[in-house]
Amino acid sequence: MKEITILSGKGGTGKTSITAAIASTAKNAVFCDNDVDAADLHLIFHPEVVEEHTFFSGYVASIDDDKCAGCGICVDHCRFDAIHYKDMGGLYINAFQCEGCRLCERVCPVQAITSQRNSNNYWYVSNTRMGKMVHAKMGSGEENSGKLVSQVRQRAREIAKETGAEYVINDGPPGIGCAAISSVTGTDAVLLVIEPTHSGLHDVGRVVELIESFKIPSFALVNKYDINREVVSEIEALLEKKNIPLLAKIPFDKQMVESMVIGQTIVEYNPHSEISKMIEEVWKAIK
Ligand code: SF4
Ligand code: SF4
Repeated sequence: MKEITILSGKGGTGKTSITAAIASTAKNAVFCDNDVDAADLHLIFHPEVVEEHTFFSGYVASIDDDKCAGCGICVDHCRFDAIHYKDMGGLYINAFQCEGCRLCERVCPVQAITSQRNSNNYWYVSNTRMGKMVHAKMGSGEENSGKLVSQVRQRAREIAKETGAEYVINDGPPGIGCAAISSVTGTDAVLLVIEPTHSGLHDVGRVVELIESFKIPSFALVNKYDINREVVSEIEALLEKKNIPLLAKIPFDKQMVESMVIGQTIVEYNPHSEISKMIEEVWKAIK
């Protein structure tokens, strides 16, 4: 089984549309939405959930007013300024500032502080018309997205082994943070979906540095290449310098938008379109 992660460095490049189109083309694959902070692959895949799991991320502390002696020791020790005095007396912990380090719990002389694990995140295994899909939903303001990415990828690999699937295809998150690092760790290949804008070029440069440090074979395609041919030349120069094969320059096509609007991939919407044929060639080259 081979695992392929699709990345872009930034949002809005059309990465998910491309991932979905590849999903229509690839046979015998398990799909994994690694963009756990803002998952969107399900909008096209229309998954039927068959497994639901709670993902426990960090801790959040709280104070028991009845036990608190108001000594302020916890306030002095909290490095994140999460503990505040109430106007009417007593103290409270701002859950959005609390990093869950649990130091306050240890220093409180009267054991007035306890910590609970965050359980506002979920991950799922679903049936879709393309095959099995593993995806997640993080609660607002929750963290540890890197660990959640590891969790969904691990389950996707298990399913691939159980079902004899040849590929796991990961729709990666934007940026180069924890979730992106977690998406590329141990993957067999990366496909970069690049948008021909200055921000697209800048952000893909950062992703290239990231995947270089992991020494993972990489491929690229430029999406909507005809909206800015000048930047395409700069992208081509970068890819050549980094020895990353450019597999396709996909044109802007309204059909791509039309297919998304009705929840289909471009390959389903018009299998004979120029883009559908290019996606087929991209998948053949990656295989
Ligand atoms: S758990 Fe850590 S971050 Fe949260 S309130 Fe206590 S000391 Fe501050
Ligand atoms: S250390 Fe304990 S007793 Fe002192 S203010 Fe904090 S919660 Fe209250």
